[in-house]
Amino acid sequence: MRKTVLVLGSNFGGLTAALAVKRELHGDVEVKVISPGDRFVFNPSLIWLPFGKRDASQITFPVAPTFEAHGIDFIHDAAVEIDADQQRVRTASGTDHAYDYLVVATGYRNQMDVVPGLTENAHTITTLEAAQRTGEAWKRYLAYPGDIVIAASQGAGCFGAAYEFLFNTSYRLKKAGLQKQVKLTYVSSEPFLGHFGIGGLPHGEQLLGMFLRKQNIDAHVGVALDHVASDAVVLADGTELPSSFSMVIPPFLGQEVAASATALDPDAKGYLPVRGTYQSEKFDNVYVVGIAAQVVAPWQTAIPMGIPKTGLPTEIQAHTAASNIAAQIRGERPTHEKPFADIPAVCVMDAGNNGVIILADKMLPPRDRGVLVPGPQAHAMKLAFEKYFLWKARHGYVQLP
Ligand SMILES: Cc1cc2nc3c(=O)[nH]c(=O)nc-3n(C[C@H](O)[C@H](O)[C@H](O)COP(=O)(O)OP(=O)(O)OC[C@H]3O[C@@H](n4cnc5c(N)ncnc54)[C@H](O)[C@@H]3O)c2cc1C
Repeated sequence: MRKTVLVLGSNFGGLTAALAVKRELHGDVEVKVISPGDRFVFNPSLIWLPFGKRDASQITFPVAPTFEAHGIDFIHDAAVEIDADQQRVRTASGTDHAYDYLVVATGYRNQMDVVPGLTENAHTITTLEAAQRTGEAWKRYLAYPGDIVIAASQGAGCFGAAYEFLFNTSYRLKKAGLQKQVKLTYVSSEPFLGHFGIGGLPHGEQLLGMFLRKQNIDAHVGVALDHVASDAVVLADGTELPSSFSMVIPPFLGQEVAASATALDPDAKGYLPVRGTYQSEKFDNVYVVGIAAQVVAPWQTAIPMGIPKTGLPTEIQAHTAASNIAAQIRGERPTHEKPFADIPAVCVMDAGNNGVIILADKMLPPRDRGVLVPGPQAHAMKLAFEKYFLWKARHGYVQLP
């Protein structure tokens, strides 16, 4: 009988894992995807949504036709309970789905209660809906401009998005002729500028410092937020930063369905511990990829911070899991390993009309090589990558780089 692979989630990790396992086994496997999100969302472009540079239709696509074209069942529902002992998943509609192999790729949710006032007084861009609301707020802001604070709170890990939104805001202020009258401030839990949650790269701190000075942006780093008021962002050290428009990147947490799967040993944030194979530490037939998978930081910082679990590692993890599941189904041992720390870092930090390309041989130190390449080619690269990735994902060409 054909084995059933059940995949929870349909974005970077889930889409890649489902298509890759189907491909690895030449179709000789039943693959089902369960997800409450029926559209793929290209999160890297959410930084542009509030400024009207992109709308939702340009950075999303419906996943059902992609899965259907590759013989994969798509179930538009949310998983609410994983019973790893019984090998079944229950969904919000009350249906039970049995599996032989499970891939958890349920990603993140925002921890909006990390400080008081975040939901009421700040905006964020870490979901499509939130970025759309931030776009409405930006329109209102332009009618009554004032000072701006962009922050990555304590516990946040998605620092690249905070920097990108900061520099895109600066670019938009310049275009609107507001650069001189608006005080733009960056606040971050990073111990130094350009740490990015990955320990920094050679000359990164100087480069980011230069970018900020050139654009007259003030920075407060290594600091936590105390609360966000309607007219100010207040830091834990008592500093009060007047703000008419505040954008905060909050910490991420694992989704409830992962956080409540006690047999899979979730950590305090709801992430699931994995081996180098992306098998759960507890079950050989359960895999966890992308943001849902736990990564233990090789450092401790005065202000807690997260690790940025970006798209490339998520795709590599999904391919690794798919190869291992295919091996297990063929009766072989799952030997493919790609620990998160050893995956290369390849990222672009967009800054409106220029940016920085970030390259390193490993996501986390110790590294042999790491380089930051500033210039307008970074912006062009992000534009081209967006088009290429959406084309590749929509057609299900997951075998392409
Ligand atoms: C603003 C922003 C900018 C970013 N910029 C970049 C960048 O420039 N470069 C880069 O490499 N990375 C970037 N990232 C990171 C990138 O988006 C993540 O690496 C990627 O989204 C991780 O994919 P994932 O599949 O693990 O999780 P997600 O993308 O969060 O997908 C989770 C999936 O699980 C589904 N799901 C949720 N709950 C359930 C449930 N209960 N049951 C079943 N399914 C569920 C969701 O609907 C979704 O389909 C950015 C992220 C953000 C937020």
